[in-house]
Amino acid sequence: MKSIKIIKPDDWHVHFREGDVLEHLVNETSKIYGRAIVMPNLNIPITNSKLAKNYKDTILKYSANVNFKPLITFYLTENININDLIKAYENDIIFAVKLYPSGVTTNSYQGVKKIDRIYSILEIMSDYKIPLLIHGEVNNKNIDVFDREKVFIKNELQNIINNFPKLKITLEHITTRFAVDFVNNAKSNVRASITPHHLLINRSDMLEHKIRPHYYCLPILKREEDRKALVQAAISGNENFFLGTDSAPHTLSTKEAECGCAGIFNTINSIETLAQLFDNCEKIENLEKFSSINGARHYEININNEKIELIKTTEKLNFKEYLLVNSEKYKIFTPPFNVFWHKKSKQ
Ligand SMILES: [Zn+2]
Repeated sequence: MKSIKIIKPDDWHVHFREGDVLEHLVNETSKIYGRAIVMPNLNIPITNSKLAKNYKDTILKYSANVNFKPLITFYLTENININDLIKAYENDIIFAVKLYPSGVTTNSYQGVKKIDRIYSILEIMSDYKIPLLIHGEVNNKNIDVFDREKVFIKNELQNIINNFPKLKITLEHITTRFAVDFVNNAKSNVRASITPHHLLINRSDMLEHKIRPHYYCLPILKREEDRKALVQAAISGNENFFLGTDSAPHTLSTKEAECGCAGIFNTINSIETLAQLFDNCEKIENLEKFSSINGARHYEININNEKIELIKTTEKLNFKEYLLVNSEKYKIFTPPFNVFWHKKSKQ
């Protein structure tokens, strides 16, 4: 039997959604994570401090742990009220601002159409040290879906960095070797979050023999060589990379459909699964950096005080297949290997 104690992890990118499912998603995340950056792409996106405060209060109501901290994000649009944004940040209602290029993913149609139109906002964010979280893909029909991250980095992100070298930027859920190399070579405040699923599966897993709609997510899964580069970035403990689950549930009927939604629901068992991945790579000692330290360092906030204990046994972890909310089912992500790591339950 092997066991490790690590600083309580944080999830630096999660979707709690809204309506009846919200309570269940907050509950699952707050059982595992100390803090979570909550994405603002609701049906009515979080574009002002009032919506942000309401969302935060609702989340707190459903938290399974009194110490859990939801970190709310503003949804960036070209006509956001900048004074409201600054006030929300200074009053600790929001933690960061999320940039969705218009149309790149779920509920992103009100996102930014031309990035240079938000430069005046980015300038103020840089002055106030408000982090910018980026869904780094272009939305351009002429660019192949597998190339959209690379093209965004080259055509848009590089410009943002050149114009705002002091702005703290998180390139969210990176998927390619190109992104890993870019972040490692960038001489600025750019770091990146990586999801468990992009560390565990590639596009062949999703597409070969039979199509697996529950592996469909955005940014879309890439090649095996990309997955390997992400794994290397994560397991090395490199401070440029940290965990953001991008857990993004959709109901079974909207995933298994003629026109299915993008998103993988991976919160439940995420830490045990990552422990198994790091262990398989003989780097279990770096799990804590990836899950509990690097993100906090990037955002210049304290690491969590609490610790959790993980134990490796000979018993396989049992994966629940679905989360059931009212009569709606949400498929829970299962990794492509057996997991022998367990969270030690409280004595
Ligand atoms: Zn996301």
